[in-house]
Amino acid sequence: MKSGVGDLTDICVAGITPFTTIDFPGRLAGVFYLQGCLWRCRYCYNAEFWNLPPAGTRVPLDKLLQFLSARKGHLDGIVFSGGEPTIHERLPVWMKAVKDMGFEIGLHTGGMVPEYLEKVLPLCSWVGLDIKAPFSLYEKVTLIAGSGALARRSAELVLASGVAYEFRTTFHPEVLSEDDILEMARDLVSMGCKHYTFQMFHPDHCTDKELRESAVPIAGISANLRQGLKSLFPKLQVRE
Ligand code: SF4
Repeated sequence: MKSGVGDLTDICVAGITPFTTIDFPGRLAGVFYLQGCLWRCRYCYNAEFWNLPPAGTRVPLDKLLQFLSARKGHLDGIVFSGGEPTIHERLPVWMKAVKDMGFEIGLHTGGMVPEYLEKVLPLCSWVGLDIKAPFSLYEKVTLIAGSGALARRSAELVLASGVAYEFRTTFHPEVLSEDDILEMARDLVSMGCKHYTFQMFHPDHCTDKELRESAVPIAGISANLRQGLKSLFPKLQVRE
C-alpha cells in the first residue's frame, strides 16, 4: 500500500534548501534539515540544530507539503539532512511518502542510530555517511562515549545495503593526526569502502573557539596524506 502525504504528521524540519546540485550526486534536489543531534562534534558548523526546537519554530507541515507539491516533476530528489535525521521516529514514513510522490531520497547521516538507519536504507537512492575518526577515537570528535561502535555498525549497514554512498571525513589537525586518518582509511577499505571524500575543516559557524583560532594556519591537505588516500580509494574526492 502506498503512503500518501495525507498520512504525514509534523516533523522537526528547521529549514529547507529549495534547490541544490551538490548535496545529492547527479540529481537536482531540495534539502530538508531536521533539527536535533545526539553528538557534539567539536567542528560542527550546525550547532544551532543540536537541540529540538519548540514546535512554533519548525517549518510548518503545510509549508513542507506545499514545497513538495510545487517541486514535483521539477526536482529529482529530496535530501534529508540535519542535525541528524535518523533520530526522528517519523523519518521512515516521511521518506516513503516523499518517494511515493516521485522524488528520489538522499540521506546525510552521522550513523548514530544504526537500527533506524537500517529501516530507511531501502528507501534511499544515496547516503552520505560522515566517518569522523578511526572508530576507536570517535569520542575525540563527537565527545560522546560509545559513538565509534555505532558509526562502525552504520558503515557496515550502508556497505551491505548496495545503496550508492559516499563516506566523508572532516579533518582538523588539532583533533586528529594524519596517521589517524590513514589508519581510519585502511580500516574503511578493509570493510569494502570504495567511495570516499576528504574535506578540510573550515572555521565558518564552528562554535569551538580553540578550533576556529587554530584553523588559521591550515593550508590544505599535505602531499603525503593525499597520496596515501589516493592509493587506498578507487573513488577519492578532496575538498580543501
Ligand atoms: S553529527 Fe553532525 S550535526 Fe551532530 S554534532 Fe556532529 S557534525 Fe554536528
